[in-house]
Amino acid sequence: MKSDIIIIGAGPGGYHTAAYAVRHGLSVTIVEKAEAGGTCLNCGCIPTKALCHDAEAVEAATRICGTRPAVDFGKIAARQQEVVAKLRQDVETLLAQTGVTFVRGNAVLKDDHTIVANGEEYQAGNIIIATGSRPKMPPIEGINLPGVMTSTELLAIENLPQSLCIIGAGVIGLEFASVFNSFGCEVTVVEYMKECLPPYDQDISKRVRKAMEKRGIKFVMQAAVKSIAKNGDNLNVCYEYKGKAGETSAEMVLVATGRAANIENIGIETAGIATERGHIIVDDNMQTNIGHVYAVGDVNGRCMLAHAAIMQGIRCVNNILGRNDEIKLDIMPSAVFTNPEAAAVGLTEAQCKEAGMEYTVKKTPFRANGRAVADEADGGLIKLITKNDGTILGCHVCGAHAADIVQEAAALMSLGCTASKLHDITHIHPTIAELLRDSV
Ligand code: FAD
Repeated sequence: MKSDIIIIGAGPGGYHTAAYAVRHGLSVTIVEKAEAGGTCLNCGCIPTKALCHDAEAVEAATRICGTRPAVDFGKIAARQQEVVAKLRQDVETLLAQTGVTFVRGNAVLKDDHTIVANGEEYQAGNIIIATGSRPKMPPIEGINLPGVMTSTELLAIENLPQSLCIIGAGVIGLEFASVFNSFGCEVTVVEYMKECLPPYDQDISKRVRKAMEKRGIKFVMQAAVKSIAKNGDNLNVCYEYKGKAGETSAEMVLVATGRAANIENIGIETAGIATERGHIIVDDNMQTNIGHVYAVGDVNGRCMLAHAAIMQGIRCVNNILGRNDEIKLDIMPSAVFTNPEAAAVGLTEAQCKEAGMEYTVKKTPFRANGRAVADEADGGLIKLITKNDGTILGCHVCGAHAADIVQEAAALMSLGCTASKLHDITHIHPTIAELLRDSV
């Protein structure tokens, strides 16, 4: 069978790209070995956000009722699965309605125009590799013990553990820490670095950690986990902190120490595709060293976010179509849906300093904003970094609706507007986004 494009993997990088390509007149075959929607829909962005939503409801109920309600975790887990199942069906319908040929099977490249799946050969002028990533398991003694889990496994549990130790204070680790704490589970986070959320501006990550500590989440920072051992019904996580041995005990352990790109067993060596440090190398059009073979999303290691995968896919199809676009892949907002939420776009203050830039920082606390006070979010902060000519270098937010606020800054940055443009934009009242205008 021959088409214009074969896509390997139906995560956001795969299925959005497929739909976009078909809408622009190209014929597409997409091959998926597991479920449509990939990590994002089945065991990433979406199920975690279903948990975040329920966690927020528990927090509100706790305040209103004066005590934390007993959580029926079975209902929470069931709703999470319903959300995923509904959206998965929607993705399959979208692919069918747009005319994408969907093949369920494991795809392996035979050469740079051919893949084999289910014993059949499929050919195309262009191939897009969108095979995503999987949890990375560090070589720690005891990592394979029952009760030590990846995020995928933790999303499938049916009973809430009494206690959870999370190794890694990145985005995934902190989102789980936040929701499991809200559900009444005792949470300890053990992290190797000095501060949590390493890519975030230190003012924001510190604020997130402090707020989470206030909620009862324990953080052990600058601690290197050495081993995990069974201790009765619990697991002991042993670490080294400033040269001294320490340990913490929990019923379950989540390993959230990063993700590895899926580059193995897909025939990239046979097709001659170049890789570097575990990722497929691509240029700004997502082209590999073989011009008509592309790689989008987590597999190219540029930015492990669903919206990055989607935008890279659009860029890649535009390249195939010979169209220029104005997508700015370097302006990539991101968010962590903890309580409090945090989000960012552009450079952190540390990066501006390191680059020797001249810049101005304006910090605007949420406390004087009507909506923030009404929403109990008055502990938040916007940190806007601008050049002296008003160019926005970075926007960093901690607090309710952080992602929405950062989205506006990202829009202005993408359009090349200066911060003063915010004064010309009417902001809906009462919203926390009004504070962005007040940040200039
Ligand atoms: P994937 O979504 O991983 O999809 C790859 C697909 O390829 C999979 O379905 C896989 O089965 C298939 N595949 C692999 N090999 C083959 C083969 N040989 N043949 C056929 N099919 C194959 N990102 C955000 O932007 N926001 C969030 O809130 C967010 N939350 C997250 C929470 C968690 C717990 C996790 C783990 C991730 C989260 N992410 C989030 C990251 C996001 O899920 C990924 O960046 C995104 O899914 C990457 O999309 P992708 O298409 O590159 O790969």
